[in-house]
Amino acid sequence: MLERILIKNTLNQTGEKVKIAGRVGARRDHGKLAFIDLIDCSGILQVVLKEAEDLRLNDVIAIEGIINKRPENMINKEIETGGIEMQAEKIEILNKADTTPFELNTDGHEVNEEIRLKYRYLDLRRNRLQKNFKIRHQITRFIRNFLSERDFTEIETPLLTKSTPEGARDYVVPSRLQPGKFYALPQSPQQYKQLLMVAGFEKYFQIAKCFRDEDTRGDRQPEFTQLDMEMSFVGQEEVMKLNEELVIETIKNVYPDKKFLQLPFPRISYKEAMEKYGTDRPDLRKDKNNQNELAFCWVVDFPFFEKDKGLNPDGSPKWTFTHNPFSAAAPGWHEKLMKKKDIEKIIAAQYDIVLNGFEIGGGSIRNHKPEALKKVLEIIGLKEKDIEENFGHMLKALAFGAPPHGGIAFGLDRFIAILQNEPNIREVIAFPKTGDGRDLMMNAPSEITKEQLKELGQL
Ligand code: ASP
Repeated sequence: MLERILIKNTLNQTGEKVKIAGRVGARRDHGKLAFIDLIDCSGILQVVLKEAEDLRLNDVIAIEGIINKRPENMINKEIETGGIEMQAEKIEILNKADTTPFELNTDGHEVNEEIRLKYRYLDLRRNRLQKNFKIRHQITRFIRNFLSERDFTEIETPLLTKSTPEGARDYVVPSRLQPGKFYALPQSPQQYKQLLMVAGFEKYFQIAKCFRDEDTRGDRQPEFTQLDMEMSFVGQEEVMKLNEELVIETIKNVYPDKKFLQLPFPRISYKEAMEKYGTDRPDLRKDKNNQNELAFCWVVDFPFFEKDKGLNPDGSPKWTFTHNPFSAAAPGWHEKLMKKKDIEKIIAAQYDIVLNGFEIGGGSIRNHKPEALKKVLEIIGLKEKDIEENFGHMLKALAFGAPPHGGIAFGLDRFIAILQNEPNIREVIAFPKTGDGRDLMMNAPSEITKEQLKELGQL
């Protein structure tokens, strides 16, 4: 009995008898001879069959046969195994396949996306998507190693958590054991990562799922992935420096052909970005068609607060935070924050990282003293009771000797989509949802039974 080997390993087996397994990717009949392309996770190999077996596209088979050099005029330079082929001796059909609803040998852009998503497991077989996920894996592996080598600890934080007003709408999950109460799915691990700093970890990261229940708007997904990070005893400079190095090293390693427009990444203040480019995520590329050009920049010095709709009962303006209620004021602005003076002028210790006109990440130095966080919450109009209910745990935790800390989070899907020159993040998410939040393959969201609803106290 031969053991199955991967197709990529047939390259050094010329003259040997081996066994491979995979699915039929193409079939060409030439009189008495038939050729098939066998595809496995490592590559593709031409197999010569003596008699035309009843093999159809996507049938899953195992084949034993001899690996031969191809005649000179038959060499296919396009594929790695183009210089060899297998002469089949024994074929075992492991599973027959139905006809697929669309072609798998193309890049798939020509296929209606709803159909692609309904049969995503087939869509994912195409070369382009296989590549996207292999590269995605290379990127996350590189990031994990890079951070691990620098003493970061990867820590998972809960998905069933508490609803806090952080900017977007929460997804909520009813609790069966605590009737009438709800968990919220995290919009980001923001509070947990800060609590890990209180816990003394000093350097944390996580490749974290985040959930935001937003209306259909552009290229967003209800759940997406962040590279989330937090560090103790650092200032803005250190967080930016480490992350700039992380980004550069990742790209140099995974994409040796990409070019950086400018190194180190230019830094632009929010004011300058708005005045010069009319946006806080400027696209600095000169030639926007050049697929391998990467124009990074940092945008800094954001206003902490902006006016919200409406007025307070006493006629004073309502304020909301522009980025993150947990941010600290930039150096020099702390006094104003504590005195709640010149609110519109206060600058946050916030930094965003922009790539080719997309904000791919952002973070800040945080308020590590409870009284400063409390001031922010007061400025955005929260009453004592709301502060206690929603943020009491944070204020308490900071009071137990929280170290100064700050962090950042990258939208990993967006970052990878840009690097892969993909038009949207769905192309780098294995099982994405439609713009209106449906999973067409699993048919979610869907109704649940009356019994389930009753158990959850929803009926
Ligand atoms: N939690 C923030 C966000 O999701 C990022 C950060 O400040 O670290 O946008």
